[in-house]
Amino acid sequence: MAGAFREAPSDRPAEARLADVALPIPLPRPLSYLVPDALEGQVVAGRRVLCTVGARRVVGVVLGVRVGEPPSAAKPLISVLEGVTLPDDLLSFLTKLSSYYLAPIGEVIKLALPPVDREEARAVEDLTLFSSAKGIAPRKIQWVVPTDVVEASLKGGAPRVLAYVRAHGALPLSRLEDQFGGARATVKRLRELGLVTIEDREAPRDAYFAAPVERDVALEPTEPQKAAMTALAEALERREGATFLLHGVTGSGKTEVYLRTIAEAKRLRRGTIMLVPEIALTPQLVGRFRARFGDDVAVLHSALTPRERFDMWKRLRAGEVDVAIGARSALFAPIRDLGLVIVDEEHDPSFKQEEGVRYNARDMAILRAHMHGGVCVLGSATPSLETEHLARTGKAVKLRLPDRARARSMPSVEIVDLRRIGAGPTGDRRLSIVLHRAIEQTLGAKEQAILFLNRRGFAPSIRCEGCGELASCPHCTVALTLHKKRGGSMRCHWCDHEAPLPTQCKKCGCDRIALEGLGTEKLEDTLKSAFPDARIARLDRDVASGKDVEKVLDRVRAREVDILVGTQMVTKGHDLPHVTLVGVINADAALSIPDFRASERAFQLLVQVAGRAGRGDAPGRVLVQTYDPDHHAIRFAADHDVGGFLERELRDRRELSYPPFSRMALARVDSLDEREAQEATQILARAARAVARGLGEGPVLTVLGPTPAPIARVRNRYRFRVMLRSASREQLRQAALAIHAATAQLPRTVRVAIDVDPVGLL
Ligand code: ADP
Ligand code: ZN
Repeated sequence: MAGAFREAPSDRPAEARLADVALPIPLPRPLSYLVPDALEGQVVAGRRVLCTVGARRVVGVVLGVRVGEPPSAAKPLISVLEGVTLPDDLLSFLTKLSSYYLAPIGEVIKLALPPVDREEARAVEDLTLFSSAKGIAPRKIQWVVPTDVVEASLKGGAPRVLAYVRAHGALPLSRLEDQFGGARATVKRLRELGLVTIEDREAPRDAYFAAPVERDVALEPTEPQKAAMTALAEALERREGATFLLHGVTGSGKTEVYLRTIAEAKRLRRGTIMLVPEIALTPQLVGRFRARFGDDVAVLHSALTPRERFDMWKRLRAGEVDVAIGARSALFAPIRDLGLVIVDEEHDPSFKQEEGVRYNARDMAILRAHMHGGVCVLGSATPSLETEHLARTGKAVKLRLPDRARARSMPSVEIVDLRRIGAGPTGDRRLSIVLHRAIEQTLGAKEQAILFLNRRGFAPSIRCEGCGELASCPHCTVALTLHKKRGGSMRCHWCDHEAPLPTQCKKCGCDRIALEGLGTEKLEDTLKSAFPDARIARLDRDVASGKDVEKVLDRVRAREVDILVGTQMVTKGHDLPHVTLVGVINADAALSIPDFRASERAFQLLVQVAGRAGRGDAPGRVLVQTYDPDHHAIRFAADHDVGGFLERELRDRRELSYPPFSRMALARVDSLDEREAQEATQILARAARAVARGLGEGPVLTVLGPTPAPIARVRNRYRFRVMLRSASREQLRQAALAIHAATAQLPRTVRVAIDVDPVGLL
């Protein structure tokens, strides 16, 4: 195409070389740019390019290059950036994802781009969203190294710290600080005494998991494990694309099946992506993978620095590493010759992204694997109804691991009917006499207990006893929760609004302010006074994020904790062998959420938390406290009857035409102005109804709304929605597209998000 590009639009040739570029702005389609002669050959799909949008310079990603008639407004590309090129297979996957979720391609591509390095960042004047690099330089960390000096008399914690350093040879200061409170001051003293030195060493590629691991050997599989491994190995070999549901009870050895299957994929020179729920990405799990595969595993966790992330990305892209493990975004890892995608705990809601591009990594994992003729494994002890339905309709093959691997029985589950069973010595009914005695027994036997309560904070609501007024967030239709930390403050869990606990009611002025309900903070307090000798730890979002979760779990594993209190965080796949008692404080809380999946979630939580009990040598006991002991989710969970639950719940869903027997899409609308939000939603609903009316015979497309969202206002924005439901994916898509098109008519002050296959309905 020599000479095809000219400045002046008037002598623009009929044909020119054009690059379709995805831009980091919410445009539904890529924009076309002219490829200047000088850049020909360099502009290929997946490359990042610098281009102009209006007066701005932005970095985009080339989706494809073609010869065609240039649009009259087409501008030339400015330059091509070296370094990052997205592979073709990833680009076509992202394009499909964008189309399925009706999400702007630029936003979708952003999910897959690594942070760029600094030199490149400098090349770009207006560095927009496509590069998130901030100061990526090699990082130095401080190591503490013991000397040969013999110690004088040391006081306080110093002897322990010194012994620890000597036992490890040398170790990062940060790890000492993790281990000992006040380690920094102690190290300073040891250094003054000449007992240790401090060295600056380059940070390892991945400082979080830098502890060395010993290689392990594969375990001799049980018969069901062997059968599952064989089926998966054969499917890998066939290269036809296949989906499996690995349904194994908690502790049945699913991880061993994953490890062997990954090894098999490696043998066939194919790469693996393994997705785990955010919270499950702990050094314990990662340690098991590193013990098997050494450093040939890229762990993509949130504690990585941009440089570490970029390094990992390049090594994966180059094929130096062929296994990537991470939370949902690891689905976009640039693995070479992808052959296997594993989704562990596939029922976990964290695979759904609830902002920006609202994709479901579990569903997209199936697509990504199939695009490569690869195998997708969805593993769970409590399969989602969607995945179970795939198995029942022949779209997935079910593999079962019916028993715990190390021949321990499942824990016994007892339902505690709070209508009949009274309070224990604390006088608080939520610590029933049965649960209280069970905790005593557990402590007496020097075993550990987990108590699960799905509310963080101290008291979930604050009410005036004079007039009944409930303290609520000024910005959201949400009750404020009292948190004791930092002197006691009322907090909104939706917008982080914080206010001191008032001494008087705002409305009637009386001073009888009552704290209602029970949160994890208060439960911890109650337990401390009821069991003064017990060592109690709490695990919820207020005390723990990322690394801290592992610290708490390490203390539990080291038996420095007798009772662990926590929210969902305690229900995930942790292997804590000395836990013999699990108490569910209030099983009804999860059932009361206005969502058709409430029973499913409650069931999954109950089975998962029960699965934490009795994983070691001593048998486990689970107590489930409830005011609704006949609810099917509670009954089936108590009987470990996953099959029974699935059967019953599928029947209910079919009767009501809920997913998986239909598909849903949600248009979420919000605005600072209530009326504007409602009217906008009305316009969208009308567009969808027009589609519904135009349909002939066949499956029905239901359009519900506009209705206010269950939480009608968040951060001062009024929220409305239109819900679409149909058994036909095509119908649903038509209606969603109509809504998408109709958003163009709305004022700019209205925000619309289209949520295809929504998971959280709040
Ligand atoms: P799951 O992921 O299904 O909850 P895990 O993979 O964590 O189960 O396994 C539970 C426990 O059983 C682990 O301690 C694991 O080492 C052990 N285990 C798994 N497979 C075997 C096997 N074939 N033989 C002996 N122990 C096993
Ligand atoms: Zn709020």
